This record gives sequence, C-alpha cells and structure tokens, in this order.
Amino acid sequence: MAKKSNSNQGIKCSFCGKEPSYTDILVPSPLGDTYICSECVDQIEGLLKDYYKENPSLRPVTNTKKETDETATGQKALPTPVEIREFLDQYVIGQEDAKKYLSVAVYNHYKRLAQDKDDVDIEKSNIIMVGPTGTGKTLLAKTIARQLDVPFAIVDATVLTEAGYVGEDIESLLVRLLQAADYDVAKAERGIVFIDEIDKIARKGDNPSITRDVSGEGVQQGLLKLLEGSIVNVPPNGGRKHPEQKMIAVDTKNILFICGGAFDGIERKIAHRLNTHVVGFTGSSVRSKVGSDNYLKYIAPQDLKSFGLIPEIIGRLPVLVHLDPLDREALLRVLTEPKNAITKQYEKLFAMDGVKLVFLPETLEFIVDKAIEYKLGARGLRTIVETIMMDPMYETPSTDIKELIIDREFAEEKIRKAYIG
Ligand code: ADP
Repeated sequence: MAKKSNSNQGIKCSFCGKEPSYTDILVPSPLGDTYICSECVDQIEGLLKDYYKENPSLRPVTNTKKETDETATGQKALPTPVEIREFLDQYVIGQEDAKKYLSVAVYNHYKRLAQDKDDVDIEKSNIIMVGPTGTGKTLLAKTIARQLDVPFAIVDATVLTEAGYVGEDIESLLVRLLQAADYDVAKAERGIVFIDEIDKIARKGDNPSITRDVSGEGVQQGLLKLLEGSIVNVPPNGGRKHPEQKMIAVDTKNILFICGGAFDGIERKIAHRLNTHVVGFTGSSVRSKVGSDNYLKYIAPQDLKSFGLIPEIIGRLPVLVHLDPLDREALLRVLTEPKNAITKQYEKLFAMDGVKLVFLPETLEFIVDKAIEYKLGARGLRTIVETIMMDPMYETPSTDIKELIIDREFAEEKIRKAYIG
C-alpha cells in the first residue's frame, strides 16, 4: 500500500504537493491516482484528535477501540468487518461472499455482546456455511477465532446423538469449548463453536439418502436448545453423565455457533425451486443468469428445509452463506499464496536444515492436476505434496545438499511409485 519515497517518479502528495523525495512515504488511495504523504496524515490525525476531544459523542466506535489494544474488560479490541476480512484474505483463497458475510456477522455478534443490557435487544446471528467439502469452511471459522483470540472448538455433528444412543451427547460440544478455554467458564461463554457436517443430521423423511443418522431430528432438537441460548449443565471431563458428577453450568446465550456442511444434492433442490416457483419477469431473468454449476449462490433457507433441517434450527442460523468449489486456478493459489500455504511450510522445514527448497511451476501444476484427478479438492493437496516430499525429507538432512529443486519428473515418479505400490 505505502510507496517508498525514492520510487515512482511523477507522483506527489495530493494534499500538500510534496514529492516523494521530501517525505517518508506516499500512501496511494485505493480509488485511483491520489496520494497522501506521512506529514499530512500526522496533521489530519492531530486535527481529528482535537475534534473528538471537543465532540466525544461523535467519535466512531472503532476509532475509540483502536487507540488501545485492550478494552477496559481486558478483551482484545474488536476488529472492524474490513479488518476481519483482510485477515481472512491472508489465509483463505477466494470465497469472497462468505468472507464478507462472516466478517459482518462476527462483528455484529461481538457488538451485541458489548451492548447496553436495557437497550434494544440485538439477536444472535449464528451462521451456516454451505459448500463442497475441502473448500475452506473449517478454515474460515478457525481463522476468525484466531483473529479474535477467543476459545474455539470444532465438533462433528455426526458424533452427536440423543441421550441413550451410542455416541456423544450434545453437551460434549461445550466440553470441547471449555477445554479450549482452559475451563474458564466466562471465556468459554464468549467463544465460537464450529459444528461440521450439520447436513448429516438432516431429517430422514425429506431426504433422498438412505444412510442418514436415525437420530437426526432428535439431535436437531437438542442442538436447538444450545443455539437459542440456554444454561446447560456440562460434565467437566466429558463422557457420560452420572448422578454424583459435579456439573459446570455454561450459558450458551453468547456463544457464536458456526455450522458447516456440504449438503450434497442441495443444488437439485435449489434448481427445482428456481425453476418451479419463480414466475414472471424477475423469474426469467434470474433463470437466465443461473448457470448449471452455480446454483449454490442462490441458496435460501427453504432449501435447507427441503434438505431436512427443521425450521426451528434454520431460524436460529440466520446468516446463510455459500462457498464456491475451488477451480484449478484457486487450487494453485491455495498451494502457494496463503500465509501458511503448503509449499511455504515445506520451504520452511527445509530452510531449518539450511536447504533452499524450490517447487518449479510445472510441479505445482502437476500437484493441482492430481488433486483434481483424485477429486480431493484442496484437502488432497497436502497428501500429494507429502507423498512427493517423503524421500527428500528422509534423505536430505544426512547430505550436504544446499538447494533442492523439485521438478515435475521427480514429482511424477514419486506419485507413480506411491500409488502403484
Ligand atoms: P471444509 O470446507 O471441508 O471444512 P477445510 O476448511 O477443512 O474444508 O479445508 C481443508 C484444507 O484445505 C484446509 O486446511 C486448507 O489447507 C485447504 N483449503 C481449503 N479451502 C481453502 C481456501 N479457500 N483457501 C486456502 N486453503 C484452503
């Protein structure tokens, strides 16, 4: 964003006219060919400070919080939706809509926690993310929790059962959160729970699959209690409840629940709704825009209902976001761009042994092709890289190799051997 003064001849501060050589930095406007120098920024900051001192009620909430890193309650200052989004961009490729919706929902959720008690009651905005497996649902939830520095737990809806069935009770989901909060109940009560595979507890009746969990609807009813906000007695060490066990009471009112699921086959329901229920001018224009592979964009709560989620659950998950499938180009970016991209991780591992590791572009293309061929999506990239790198990781530390270039031929051979073997 900021440009060094000794580069970019011909530009100057649009406020004072200063040229690059007379200032530390010139910050470009995201809107076009306009710049501001560091001195003008300082001056404006001073003006704003004086202004807000005289008019404290006009001070924007975010500015107040940015002044210190911690608020009076010891909570981390809350980032704005744009800041949350920028943080997500560092780790998650694509998924533009999901990032925007999530940033706003999370921001509102934490604003809700800070609201005056006797003020307008802001309702909780739990989130449901729908998208193919391996497209970043868990990654998005995890990354948000990391930025906000709140306890975060991931649970799989398929292991939850109604009491009496084999599996874990609904409360187990809060045990994980308590553990993540080091048993600090107050901290856990402001945490985030990611419930994966929520589609697997869909009601059987409305559903084409015959492999649904029999307890689906019962689990949904149990989950509803948690989503709505209630005080739940949690066995401290998890596992089965027994009469003498001391319970920890956890209030779920302020816990943010993010649910995720692939909802395989839901596109058919969306297509069906769009093609049968939409009539008139708007209808035809919507239909003409809908391509055969992007129905998920048009997902609406009623599609979740036809898939088998009970209306009460849908009502408690007001923020509905979709994730796009990752195409070839997105997979290539996943491999190299995020802050902790897979190739960066391997480069670091080798650098720790003093070895410069280089993946040639042709190798990256090959890895992506294999991931697509195996229908593994982003999830498969790591497995493929791991297979290719196993021998070099084993052998290189006992050699004096200083640079290791992974070309396509080498990668092909490793994959061929591994999968034929
Ligand atoms: P799911 O949608 O099934 O929850 P995950 O978030 O668990 O998928 O993704 C699995 C792995 O794939 C992640 O750990 C991450 O490395 C990679 N991945 C998936 N989607 C993305 C994405 N959009 N950007 C960057 N990495 C991704």
